[in-house]
Amino acid sequence: MSKGKILVMVGAPGAGKGTQAKRLEKEFGIPQISTGDILRAMAKEDSPLGRQLHEIQSAGKLVSDEILFEVVRKRTAEPDCVGGYILDGYPRTLAQAEQLDRIAEEQGRKLLVLSIEVSDELLLQRLTGRRICCNCGAIFNVYLSPPVADGVCDFCGGSLVQRDDDKVEVIERRIQEYYENTAPLISRYSEAGLLYRIDGSKDPAAVFEELSKYVTA
Ligand code: AMP
Repeated sequence: MSKGKILVMVGAPGAGKGTQAKRLEKEFGIPQISTGDILRAMAKEDSPLGRQLHEIQSAGKLVSDEILFEVVRKRTAEPDCVGGYILDGYPRTLAQAEQLDRIAEEQGRKLLVLSIEVSDELLLQRLTGRRICCNCGAIFNVYLSPPVADGVCDFCGGSLVQRDDDKVEVIERRIQEYYENTAPLISRYSEAGLLYRIDGSKDPAAVFEELSKYVTA
C-alpha cells in the first residue's frame, strides 16, 4: 500500500471517479476528498460566496482556482489525511495541478494519478441517467442500474433526485469543459511518469480490482 500518498482520480464527468474513490476509501481506510461535494455544501450557505458558487455549479462551469487552492489545502491538513488521501475532482486545470504540486511538496507526499477512461457515449448515458437518493446518498442509474421502484431508493425509501448539473445541456458543457481544461493534465502526468490508465467501461468491480493493483503496488 502506498501509505501517505495522494491518490488523484482523473476522468471525465461520469467516468466513475466518485464511485471508485468511495470504494478505495473503504478498502484502504484513507479519506476520499470530493471537491464537488465540498463546493456543493458551501453553495448551500446563505452568503454572497454561497450564491456565487451555486450559480457556477448549476451552469456546469468551473469554480476559480484560488477558491480550490484554499479548499484543498485546508481539507488535506485535517488529521484524517495523515496516512494519505484520495482526490476526486481535483485538479481540473493546469494551474490546479501546479497548486497540487506545491501542496504535495509542503506535505512531503508523492502523487499517484489514476485515469479512468470511458467513451463519450457511455458517459452521456451514465450522467443523464444518474439519480441520487436525497436521504442516504445512494447512486442509481435509470438506464444501467435502475431502482426497483421508480424514483425510490432501494436502501432507505428516500426520493431519488437528479443533480442540477446532470441535466443534458449542462452535461454537454461539463464534458466540453473537461476536454478543454482537464484532459491536458493527462499528458502532463504521463510525461512525469505518475499516470496509470484504467478502462472505466468495465463493470465497477473489475475497475476497482485494477485500481487496487496500482494502489498496492
Ligand atoms: P463534480 O461533483 O466533481 O462533478 O463537481 C461539480 C461541480 O463543482 C463542477 O462542475 C464545478 O462547478 C465544481 N468543481 C468541483 N471540483 C472543481 C475543481 N477542481 N475546479 C473547479 N470547479 C470544481
